[in-house]
Amino acid sequence: MPRVYNFSAGPAMLPEEVLQQAREELLDWRGTGMSVMEMSHRGKEFMSIAAQAEADLRSIMAIPEGYKVLFLQGGASSQFAMVPLNLLGSKKSADYINTGSWSKKAIAEGKRYCEVNIAGSAEYSVPSQADLRLNPDAAWLHYTPNETIAGVEFPYIPDAGEVPLVADMSSTILSRPLDVSRFGLIYAGAQKNIGPAGLTVVVIREDLIGDPLPTTPSMFSYRIHADSGSMYNTPPTYSWYLAGLVFDWVKRNGGLEAMARINQRKAQKLYAAIDASDFYSNPVEPACRSWMNVPFTLADAALDTTFLAEAGEQGLVTLKGHRSVGGMRASIYNAMPEEGVDALVAFMADFERRYG
Ligand code: PMP
Repeated sequence: MPRVYNFSAGPAMLPEEVLQQAREELLDWRGTGMSVMEMSHRGKEFMSIAAQAEADLRSIMAIPEGYKVLFLQGGASSQFAMVPLNLLGSKKSADYINTGSWSKKAIAEGKRYCEVNIAGSAEYSVPSQADLRLNPDAAWLHYTPNETIAGVEFPYIPDAGEVPLVADMSSTILSRPLDVSRFGLIYAGAQKNIGPAGLTVVVIREDLIGDPLPTTPSMFSYRIHADSGSMYNTPPTYSWYLAGLVFDWVKRNGGLEAMARINQRKAQKLYAAIDASDFYSNPVEPACRSWMNVPFTLADAALDTTFLAEAGEQGLVTLKGHRSVGGMRASIYNAMPEEGVDALVAFMADFERRYG
């Protein structure tokens, strides 16, 4: 079976070269006679893998001095709680922007620990900077730069003044260059643009690694993870290694500038196909359309199963939309080749010709 074009929102496609390299190194990592999966996380081999991955991530994201990079477990979902536990300090409230399902999850968890002020909200769009009602006394401003389910992406970075900006970048990290210095904290589950599930990357400004609330479990303390180089307990070693291979792949392929050029082109092709037809539609305001997750519906939902079945026969898989919204969703992260998008666009045109 040749490899399919997998449009899954996550876990998602990995670059084929990365998988080939992992296969070559699976049984014997560089003459050690063992797999990375079998290595002690404290041995010099794995320590070198871990350090190289961090150095490469720092280099491709241009992470400035004064930020720690943590390689954690628990998914982005754990960060919904870790942020309040570690950043609240003596403050009482935090600001959140609500642009969809993942914002709502972060807000619900935040409410367990502090007063939540909804600084702005929108559906199929994002609030403008001018519309944000920011509290200068908030402990942080949280937002979701890319809403994976509805396919809504911020075209700008909110300005919260002195208040630290916290971003759930799970589905947009590494999709384009980013000015990290604008952020207090960035977190992302790995399983979209970074590597396999099981790893969560946190980039945190050092002055925010304060003291967590007293009842915080050790595993939820940024301080403990930062002080131990993300080795307080056994980290997800194999996911960390594969993430390192992906960072190296990004570097060798022109870095985030190159990723951005290709990603923008891929997204434009798909949106152009949707907009050119009355058969397909996407409800998101054009300026806020995601480069990574492109949801669309068919004019007749009764054709959904036929569309999915026929697409699958052509090696275009996992196009079913999220259960909460229905329709289709094509997730086109860095590892989705442009040929995959071209094949999808061609299939969509052909399907419309036959059923539209
Ligand atoms: N935030 C966003 C924007 C996501 O897309 C996801 C996963 N789809 C999550 C959070 C939850 O991530 P995890 O499954 O790693 O907890």
